[in-house]
Amino acid sequence: MKLKIGHLYPDLLEIYSDRGNITVLRKRAEWRGIEVQVDRISIGDDVNLVEYDLLFSGGGEDREQMQVAEDLLRKRDTLLRAVASGTVVLAICGSYQLLGHYFETVNGHRIEGVGLLDFYTIGGQRRLTGNVVSKLTIFNFECTVVGYENHSGRTYLGPGVAPLATVVSGHGNNGEDGLEGVVQGTVFGTYLHGPVLAKNPLLADHLLQLALKRRTDRPYLPPLEDEWEWLAHERLVRKFARMKLT
Ligand code: GLN
Repeated sequence: MKLKIGHLYPDLLEIYSDRGNITVLRKRAEWRGIEVQVDRISIGDDVNLVEYDLLFSGGGEDREQMQVAEDLLRKRDTLLRAVASGTVVLAICGSYQLLGHYFETVNGHRIEGVGLLDFYTIGGQRRLTGNVVSKLTIFNFECTVVGYENHSGRTYLGPGVAPLATVVSGHGNNGEDGLEGVVQGTVFGTYLHGPVLAKNPLLADHLLQLALKRRTDRPYLPPLEDEWEWLAHERLVRKFARMKLT
């Protein structure tokens, strides 16, 4: 079995080692005997995104987001068709913002999003930075998700979408409503860098599992040891959220 991953705009949207998420997905698949192909896709590339089981894109500065946004609008149709076919999307911070209706930067530029999901983002003077501990909404058991955030944009979800997590410690989507990220079907957006999947193995496997559903009816991912991953995860939970969790 082969898993096809598309890495969108690796040359422009790549801060805080977000590309590490690709390494995590690749290794976690390969350790289970699944072959992985990663294609880099950027501005001007004429691609059929339906071919991909998972699309990933990282965070970036406002200026790079402007460049990417124009191209992403040209890829909108193929992106929508991919999502309709079950392709998993993981978008971090700057690329998360581009999946919504628009991002109005702190300098007053309006960057049009692809409008795939129902939310908008407004830049603020004070950047929202630091470590985040949040609780995932997608499992029927309690699971924290940890990471690092640094963004000026404040994202406000519309009624058509759900948050990926609720904030225990940190700012999340906007520092006001206690929500972090977005999820709708197989599309996931989050403000968390880290890279986020390295310290959150259950989230990583959840995405792999969803992506594999395009290849096989009952994807099975045998458990991995994940000792170091959980050590890093729990350290952050203890350091930044202990008082609120107990
Ligand atoms: N430029 C965006 C903002 O500041 C995204 C930043 C990021 O990807 N970390 O909100």
